[in-house]
Amino acid sequence: MGCATIPAMRALVVSDIHSNLEAFDAVLADAEEHGGYDIVWFLGDLVGYGADPGRCIERLQELPNVAVAGNHDHAVTGKLNPDLFNGAARAAALWTADVLTYDELAYLAGLPEVRTEGDFTHVHGSLRDPVMEYLLSEPAALATFALMGTPFCLVGHSHFPIVWTENEHGADVALLDPTEPLGMHQDRRVIANPGSVGQPRDGDWRASYLLYDSEAEDAGVLEHRRVEYDIATAQRKIREAGLPEVLADRLARGH
Ligand code: ZN
Repeated sequence: MGCATIPAMRALVVSDIHSNLEAFDAVLADAEEHGGYDIVWFLGDLVGYGADPGRCIERLQELPNVAVAGNHDHAVTGKLNPDLFNGAARAAALWTADVLTYDELAYLAGLPEVRTEGDFTHVHGSLRDPVMEYLLSEPAALATFALMGTPFCLVGHSHFPIVWTENEHGADVALLDPTEPLGMHQDRRVIANPGSVGQPRDGDWRASYLLYDSEAEDAGVLEHRRVEYDIATAQRKIREAGLPEVLADRLARGH
C-alpha cells in the first residue's frame, strides 16, 4: 500500500446552466457515458435566461455536488439588483424569482461565492470580484492568480471555454487551447473555464463542460467536452413561458 491520502476521484465540472434542463440532462448523460463522475462541481448561474429553473435546481440537488453562486442566482434572490442586467436578462431574473418556491430561492441564496476543494478554488467570476468579473483579459487573469491559495482555479461566467496558465509566477500568463486535455501539474498553475452548459457564447451551440479525473496521467487531467442537446424543446419552453424571444433565438446561434 502507498501513502496516498487523496482518493481517486472524477468530477463533472459545469457552469452557467441557466435553467436549460435539456442541455443539463444531455451533459449528465454524456459524462455518464464517458467514464462517469463521483461529484458535480458547479460554478454558478444555475438559473436565469431559460424556462426550467426549478427542475434544474432539483436535478443538481439530486446529485452529489458542491456549488457556488453566480450573478444570476444572486439577481433572483435579491442579492444583486436585476436592474444591472440588460432587458432580456432582467426580465428572465424577475420571471424566475416569481416561479421559484421559497425553498428553491433559499437554496440559491445560501450558495457561497467561493469554495475550495482540495487543489481547486471554485468561483463564478473571479477572485477579486466573485460574481461579476469576466476572466477574459491578461490583467484579470493575473489578478486572480495573485489571490489563489491553491494551484488551480475553476471559473465560469463568460460562457467561453478558456484556460489560462502562468508562464512565470506572478509575471506572465498565457492562453492554452481549451479543447486539449490538460494535465494538472502542481508546478503549473491554471485557471480553467468549462464554458456554458445552457447558453454557450463561443459560436458553438452545443453544451460545454469539463471532466476531471484525479488519477489520469499521474497528476490528473481536465478534459473538455461538447454535447448536442434537444435545443428545439428548450426554445419552445422559453417561448411558452413568455420569456423574451431573443433568449430562445440565441441558443441556436451559440452566442
Ligand atoms: Zn452565466
